Amino acid sequence: MKVGVLALQGAFGLHERVLNRLGVAAVQVRTAQELAEVDRLVIPGGESTAISKLLDANGLADPLAERLAGGLPVLGTCAGLILLASEVVDGYPGQRCFGAVDAAVRRNGYGRQADSFSAPVAVAIDGWQSAFPGVFIRAPVVESTGAEVEVMAELDGVPVLCRQGSAVASSFHPELADDDRIHRWFLEQE
Ligand code: GLN
Repeated sequence: MKVGVLALQGAFGLHERVLNRLGVAAVQVRTAQELAEVDRLVIPGGESTAISKLLDANGLADPLAERLAGGLPVLGTCAGLILLASEVVDGYPGQRCFGAVDAAVRRNGYGRQADSFSAPVAVAIDGWQSAFPGVFIRAPVVESTGAEVEVMAELDGVPVLCRQGSAVASSFHPELADDDRIHRWFLEQE
């Protein structure tokens, strides 16, 4: 299995570290060629506006849209969730989102940097005995989800981990937690 981490901007190195720790040699994806070679992709946190512009500049937007439409298993975290969503509120004009998860998200919906926080997140996955330590940094708020979205975790009634088909997205940063269950679970999905 070849796992890619979109490495245009943001916290891709931390995802690589978790994947490497799990015995998976993750590859950095910056070109359409590199994207074509992966079986699975992580889209990290960072700045969704910057990642969106860099996807365009690197000729990756259309190939990524095609891979996602083709069912590429993908994990998007924070900015990655914004990119996977179907609607972005408070984005910049022309900001990309790929609609792999039918959700409307508000950028920085939990507030600015100073409002970043940690909270235990109860995840609906069989066999999980304890909450996942959620780290929220200028996180997006999921304002609505479509009928095909499975909400795997909520915080105060707001979805924070969502799945649609082979796409899964969190508003928090699992790569910053000392807990690799979400990455492990992602790697095990068909
Ligand atoms: N606020 C950022 C954005 O809009 C996301 C923050 C993050 O990924 N930690 O892209």
